Amino acid sequence: MFGTGILKGLYITAKNLVGSYHDPERLTTEQYPEERPKLPENFRSFPFLVFDGENAIDGLRCTACKMCEKECPPQCIYIVADRDENGKLMKRPKVFDIDISVCMGCQICAEVCPFESIKMDHHFEVATDNRFEKLLLHREDLAKPNSYYHSIRPTEAAAVDAQLAEEKRKAEERAAARAATAKPVPATPPSNPPAA
Ligand code: SF4
Ligand code: SF4
Repeated sequence: MFGTGILKGLYITAKNLVGSYHDPERLTTEQYPEERPKLPENFRSFPFLVFDGENAIDGLRCTACKMCEKECPPQCIYIVADRDENGKLMKRPKVFDIDISVCMGCQICAEVCPFESIKMDHHFEVATDNRFEKLLLHREDLAKPNSYYHSIRPTEAAAVDAQLAEEKRKAEERAAARAATAKPVPATPPSNPPAA
């Protein structure tokens, strides 16, 4: 009959409208920003740097190897390695900047990092009136504790902790084995007594 399709469509729409108020799972609209979105663990916005312990700079896992800087497709990472008082390169960054006005959130930096140092954040509210200064994040802005990493990505962070603990255990075993097989230093022979 003419118009049956329209009536069926309207019935389904009305059924879903009423049904969604009885089943909260079907209410997909979020009243953002009053209601905070429930982000899935694998959601990603921009990168941040993980640090262990209390000190955000001394505890950074980053060794300034620059792997992420090389692999970043839009080249929005800039790293300068730190040096000691004798000018010798140290395994930590003096400068670590990410221009998040350019970053496309691809996660390649996090995937290539051999030290589990750079991870993808959940923080996405970065709107600002100054895209040049306020979207250029520095080492201090990027450093976040391992506890924060656990709070946003608990499964991944727990797996990383287990992996790092295993690597540390193996390194300690290797060091102990090397120490055990090291050749003993020969004792210095006694000097000849002076001739009578
Ligand atoms: S997420 Fe992608 S674009 Fe952004 S800093 Fe990492 S590698 Fe570069
Ligand atoms: S974040 Fe990772 S890949 Fe990038 S410089 Fe630091 S240790 Fe290397």
